Amino acid sequence: MTLRFSVLASGSTGNAVYVETEQQRLLIDAGLSGKKMDELFQSINRDPKDLTGILVSHEHSDHIKGVGIFARKHKLPIYANEKTWQAMNSHLGNLANEQKFIFGIDEVKSFGNLDVESFGVSHDAAEPMFFSFHHEGKKLVLATDMGYVSERIKGTIKDADMFIFESNHDTNMLRMCKYPWSIKRRILSDVGHVSNEDAAMALSECIGDKTSRIYLAHLSLDNNLKDLARLSVEQVLKEQGMAVGEQFELYDTDPHHPTALAVVS
Ligand SMILES: [Zn+2]
Ligand SMILES: [Zn+2]
Repeated sequence: MTLRFSVLASGSTGNAVYVETEQQRLLIDAGLSGKKMDELFQSINRDPKDLTGILVSHEHSDHIKGVGIFARKHKLPIYANEKTWQAMNSHLGNLANEQKFIFGIDEVKSFGNLDVESFGVSHDAAEPMFFSFHHEGKKLVLATDMGYVSERIKGTIKDADMFIFESNHDTNMLRMCKYPWSIKRRILSDVGHVSNEDAAMALSECIGDKTSRIYLAHLSLDNNLKDLARLSVEQVLKEQGMAVGEQFELYDTDPHHPTALAVVS
């Protein structure tokens, strides 16, 4: 019995994560065109026709761009909380009411043998939330698009076997870059995105004995680099007494290429 996943795409150009058990095949967000989504599925050798549902974290276009098209094409149920539905409904095009389901914040929903736990995050959307996936004692956490990582979130996501965790920007690169100040302020705010250092500090409190992999996700194209994110996180974790490469490994995600389908162990 296995829980598997792939980060299909990650970053402000579009996000999508695939999670499966033997019985269930879920897509979390579809922030790329329907065509691109099909290609991503092809590269992990999975057929979107076999999906059992789409979960939506929040209504930002990098998370919902392909949701409507994809759900229509493959006749999929969509799950989101009420406020997210209100905010995204008009952007999804025509959907049958039978395709629309409510998945509230702080709920555990069972999709067959896969339990999905939602938790709220601080981000400038209607009611953003992310998810922990539980199957046969294994726990996979997906947490991006957070202004900061609250004590509550840390408590919920603690001790996961694997984390897909936001490491959005290098604070110095962001401060120096050509973005208008209003945008910089938004990213740095409590409802923006988590920096490499803040990601590492939060992770240092959430990593447990079982933790084996951390996937750094939603990297800014302009204000981060894969190597920089990895090194920054590694250094902070080291300062907190944790040796990357011994107990657990750090992994990259990519805006255009899926991570290899991995078993959560
Ligand atoms: Zn967002
Ligand atoms: Zn996003």
